[in-house]
Amino acid sequence: MKPTKSILFHLRPIILIAAVSMVLSALLLWNSSALKRELAHSTEEYVMDVSAQLAGDISSRLDSFQQALESVACTLSPLPDQDALQASLNRQAQILGFDALAVIAPGGAAVPQGFPKEYLQDRSVFQNKLSSGPAVTYLGGQDLLFSVPLEAGGPAGHILAGVRSKENIQALIAPKSYNGRGLTCIVNSSGAVVISPTDLKPFLQLGDIFSSGADAKAQQAISHMITDMAAQRSGVFQFTAVDGSNLVLSYHPLNANGWILLTLVPADLISGNAGAYIFRSFLLIAGGLLVLGLLFLALVQTYRANRRQLESVAYTDPLTGGLNRAAFQRAYQKLASGMPPSSCTLVFLDVKGFKLINESLGVRAGNKILQYICQTLQQHLQPGEIAARVNADQFVLCLQESAPGQVQARLDKMVGAINSSGRPAELQYALTIPQGACRIDDPATDLMLIEERARTACKLQSERSVCSFYNSDLIEKIKREQELNAQLPLSLAHGDFYVYLQPKVRLRDGALGGAEALVRWRHPQYGMIPPGEFIPLFERNGSVCTLDLYLFEQICALLRRWMDQGRAPLPISFNLSRVHFKNPNYLEPFLRLKEQYRIPNGILEMELTESTFFDEQQRQLVQSSIVEMHRHGFLCSLDDFGVGFSALALLKDFDVDAIKLDRQFFSEIASSKSRAVISSFIALAQTLGIHTVAEGIETREQADFLRQAGCDMIQGFYFSKPLPIPEFETWAPSRPPGPN
Ligand code: C2E
Ligand code: MG
Ligand code: MG
Repeated sequence: MKPTKSILFHLRPIILIAAVSMVLSALLLWNSSALKRELAHSTEEYVMDVSAQLAGDISSRLDSFQQALESVACTLSPLPDQDALQASLNRQAQILGFDALAVIAPGGAAVPQGFPKEYLQDRSVFQNKLSSGPAVTYLGGQDLLFSVPLEAGGPAGHILAGVRSKENIQALIAPKSYNGRGLTCIVNSSGAVVISPTDLKPFLQLGDIFSSGADAKAQQAISHMITDMAAQRSGVFQFTAVDGSNLVLSYHPLNANGWILLTLVPADLISGNAGAYIFRSFLLIAGGLLVLGLLFLALVQTYRANRRQLESVAYTDPLTGGLNRAAFQRAYQKLASGMPPSSCTLVFLDVKGFKLINESLGVRAGNKILQYICQTLQQHLQPGEIAARVNADQFVLCLQESAPGQVQARLDKMVGAINSSGRPAELQYALTIPQGACRIDDPATDLMLIEERARTACKLQSERSVCSFYNSDLIEKIKREQELNAQLPLSLAHGDFYVYLQPKVRLRDGALGGAEALVRWRHPQYGMIPPGEFIPLFERNGSVCTLDLYLFEQICALLRRWMDQGRAPLPISFNLSRVHFKNPNYLEPFLRLKEQYRIPNGILEMELTESTFFDEQQRQLVQSSIVEMHRHGFLCSLDDFGVGFSALALLKDFDVDAIKLDRQFFSEIASSKSRAVISSFIALAQTLGIHTVAEGIETREQADFLRQAGCDMIQGFYFSKPLPIPEFETWAPSRPPGPN
């Protein structure tokens, strides 16, 4: 069904042209046949008019001959002697245009005697004429014999006869032979030709007209004509002769002997050229239509080509050459129209740390990597699946999978292929691609909503490289997040947030070198909640700044108490969320509190995570902030060092006091490569005058290696977990702080 529809769709312009041409042709045919009918009618009228006029002329000509003869007859009473009669008749014949004049006696004797005997062969003719008065008689050879009885007083039974040759009448009807294409002739009531315009054979023999070979219509018209002729009526009709020619025949009675004037002309006599004109008009219009049609087709082709080009621009991601969001939406709508419920899954992929790639490798290399990701995803699609880049480093897929296990397997293959050895040289590190998915239970659901759910699932992904599915658990998680968000102000007011301190031990002498303050939420309903659960959440809505400041005041208050108790203030580091850098004046409240609690310089250390440094927009601010921090007596350390890509470059650009090597480094401490990397990092930091703190140290082996490598301090469960302040205060004296 579908292909037929699309073929018809594509043939639309041709069908349109064909339909318009057919309608125009039908109109032309109708118009030309009406024109032909009108011309035929005009031809009939014309022939009728001309032949009626001619019939009148011939009749009056015959009448005038007859009258001339009668006037001669009047002069012959009494009949002069033979010589005088002969002389008179010869003279009168000459004057009146007769070939010969003669007085004929009832016995047939003629005066003058030289009167051609052949005119008198049929005596019965004369006898009849004598009894019926003046007459004109047709003689063989188309000569006409006019006769009148001599007037009373003349010899009884005598008649005056005059012979006129046929040429006279021929001259009259000859011009009406229509240049040899038609025929005008005089016939008697039985159809025999009395006078034809020429002695040459006309284009059609009358015998042919009356032949039985003519069509039924012609036969009928001819029989009608014979009736009319018998009743001395005139008429006209058209017919097709046996030779196929169309003819118009008109007939008019003459007032002599029941003779009829016949006019036979080709039906196309008048319309002949009109037919040629009509044909030429046809050709012109057909040619015009053809040109118009071709122009129209060319226009349609151009329009389609332009549309295809526009579509390809509108639906192509210029960077990857793959689908863009609009194209994805279009393809998805097609898919969704025939998609069974719960048969497909929409996946959202967000390449992690892509900013860092752009930052470290350059935008060109970043683009190349995005192209590569897009191509790899596309290569792993099955028929009926779609993939598109919808944002800088975000992709969406519509997979024909419904089971989470299957979706995960497909995604693992894709990510595996992206990070395979075949990846471009620019991509030096395996990419982490957080994934969120939403099964399409109802294909009628708005795509944006499904994508938003997959995106939310991706954001709330709990385990690295494991796709997070939008399901009831996730919805619960979202609800819980909303709840936690709502409870933050109350919990702050109630003092449900606590500072825990995790000691940093100096490797040089085993003394306590400082502590990191870490927040804990003792939730009245959920119990102890680790920061990993609520910090990202508060970072998303910005409330982490309030929390950090709250914690900072707790730290300042603690240090103040310790100092007031006469203890040496222990250097305490605290985590400063990157969200603070959205506000250029973020440092002010920290300075106020530091002053308010009279905390000496060099005690408070702000920990900034690596990701803070890579945000292009706040890079300048971070750089100048570090200068400000130092100016106001804060220390600054680079937290989670080594998780990102170009950590080393940071040391060059940012004036930090310490780096906190991430615990990831030490998971493979047994490997010589790992050891080499750590040693060189530490050596480099030493060269730059930057302290090193190793985080997440759990084993003696790790601690021993770091001591050897020259690391300044370690922080980890090996010495102590983060402790509530009272416990820390108990723990700390066993490791008295040594000189920095
Ligand atoms: P972080 O700043 O890198 O803190 C170190 C994390 O490593 C802490 O997790 C600590 O408990 C854990 N840790 C320390 N030693 C070991 C070890 O030997 N083994 C293992 N497995 N873990 C160890 P915690 O307290 O859950 O904090 C997680 C993260 O939450 C922190 O990472 C920090 O980024 C953030 N955070 C904690 N407190 C605050 C806060 O007050 N403000 C802000 N903005 N972020 C905070
Ligand atoms: Mg930290
Ligand atoms: Mg850390």
